[in-house]
Amino acid sequence: MALNPTKIILLFSMGIIIGSFLNVLIYRLPRKASIVWPPSSCPHCEHQLSWIDLIPLLSYLLLKGRCRYCQKPINTLYPIIELLAGFTTIIWALHFGLSPSELWKLVLLYGLLAISCIDLQAKIIPNKLTYPLMVGGLIYSWSQGELLFALTGGLTGAVILLLISLLYPKGMGMGDIKLLAMLGVFLGWQGVIYTLFLGSLTGVLILFPLLLNGKIQRKDPVPFGPFLAIGALVVILFF
Ligand SMILES: [Zn+2]
Repeated sequence: MALNPTKIILLFSMGIIIGSFLNVLIYRLPRKASIVWPPSSCPHCEHQLSWIDLIPLLSYLLLKGRCRYCQKPINTLYPIIELLAGFTTIIWALHFGLSPSELWKLVLLYGLLAISCIDLQAKIIPNKLTYPLMVGGLIYSWSQGELLFALTGGLTGAVILLLISLLYPKGMGMGDIKLLAMLGVFLGWQGVIYTLFLGSLTGVLILFPLLLNGKIQRKDPVPFGPFLAIGALVVILFF
């Protein structure tokens, strides 16, 4: 759909605000910290940050990427996640035209962004993200009279990855199984198979050159979450 500049700026602003909340999740969930308390502080000097230090994107630019109190660099991942969330929002709006019935796709994309970053950094996929999304997906499908679609999708995702994890016990974690089950709830059994196929393909295309270069070793644990997220992104946008 056509979006005027005002709408684009509003959507982008909303996206980067949500991105800054995703940053809180990405930082705190793997540390088993509360996501509401205490207020954000600098990880170096532990000085509590005020609202002026926490404006998405702008604070980072105004502070030139350094803490106001100790001058140590702020993790560049923060503005990058905010930007990604901003662009995700615009892409969603262009693709699905601000339709409330398509809002779940945006929520799912935000969730996948957080899950991917956490999996890349901490090598875990927190239940605190997969479970609420899964329950939300089931409730939404039920409200649309498509509960069977969601249940068969979720079951397909869980069973396929469970079977793979039985064959290769070290390759797959429970987090991956729950993630694919959650994706199946939203995307259905066909969508989840496409997601797994596209995610694995992306994984091979990215990891094989790294393996050849010796950048990673065969035995290194590889987070599968981000690849499943890429597969799901393609399915959401193009299938
Ligand atoms: Zn500091």
